[in-house]
Amino acid sequence: MADSMTAEPRPADVTTRPTGEPLIVLDHVEKHFGELHVLRDVNLTIHRGEVVVVIGPSGSGKSTLCRTINRLETIDSGTISIDGKPLPAEGRELARLRADVGMVFQSFNLFAHRTVLENVTLGQVKAKGVKPAVAKATAMDLLERVGVADQAAKRPAQLSGGQQQRVAIARALAMKPKAMLFDEPTSALDPEMINEVLDVMVGLAQDGMTMVVVTHEMGFARRAAHRVVFMDAGQVVEEAEPETFFTAPRSGRAKDFLSKIL
Ligand code: ADP
Ligand code: MG
Repeated sequence: MADSMTAEPRPADVTTRPTGEPLIVLDHVEKHFGELHVLRDVNLTIHRGEVVVVIGPSGSGKSTLCRTINRLETIDSGTISIDGKPLPAEGRELARLRADVGMVFQSFNLFAHRTVLENVTLGQVKAKGVKPAVAKATAMDLLERVGVADQAAKRPAQLSGGQQQRVAIARALAMKPKAMLFDEPTSALDPEMINEVLDVMVGLAQDGMTMVVVTHEMGFARRAAHRVVFMDAGQVVEEAEPETFFTAPRSGRAKDFLSKIL
């Protein structure tokens, strides 16, 4: 950027768009639910180290987009590849590729009858064959990183929503994913807990994690995103750097959406 020396510094350190190679590539992706056309010719490339915020009206296909990337939903046509490999339909290969992409949902989806530590340990042991002692050490490191190490022996229900969501992030990171998908990770939280989760996510972004984040938190987009992708009615309508998108959206649909949320 030509004016980067004189412009006000952005609040976070995630300033330059990474030039890493493509990590997640969607090519002409189409998806229907019955008659409903939910993804329409979606073409999207997420580069290694890139943080992409996806925004758009309710029902525009944002969750479906995330779920197809993780193969929780199949697609009708087009291709999705992760790190150069097309997503296979099923089998062991699918499980392995799915493990490359961690996912964090609006509802925390922790195992209710396991401790916090077990929640972050079990997947490593069961899906990756990590030795229990090693898995436990990794889990404690991650719980420390997200600021809930002191809650390790508790059950999820004993934690606040913000703490539970941070455990969910630690659990996803424990699988050593190449990328993380977040689908409205703060939408179910009380307002005072939103920032503690967003701060963890900004930290991940600063550490270079490749991230796709569906969120209406414009502050997060401004702090951490390299790119905003605006979806409407199953289409990627507009893509731009956050400042450009928020201050000068090009499409009428984006202008209309922003006028309602800002
Ligand atoms: P968003 O996350 O942007 O709100 P979604 O991806 O959840 O949008 O949904 C896109 C459209 O697909 C909506 O009209 C929704 O009702 C519909 N939809 C989502 N999941 C299903 C499903 N499993 N079966 C049928 N329709 C669905
Ligand atoms: Mg959604």
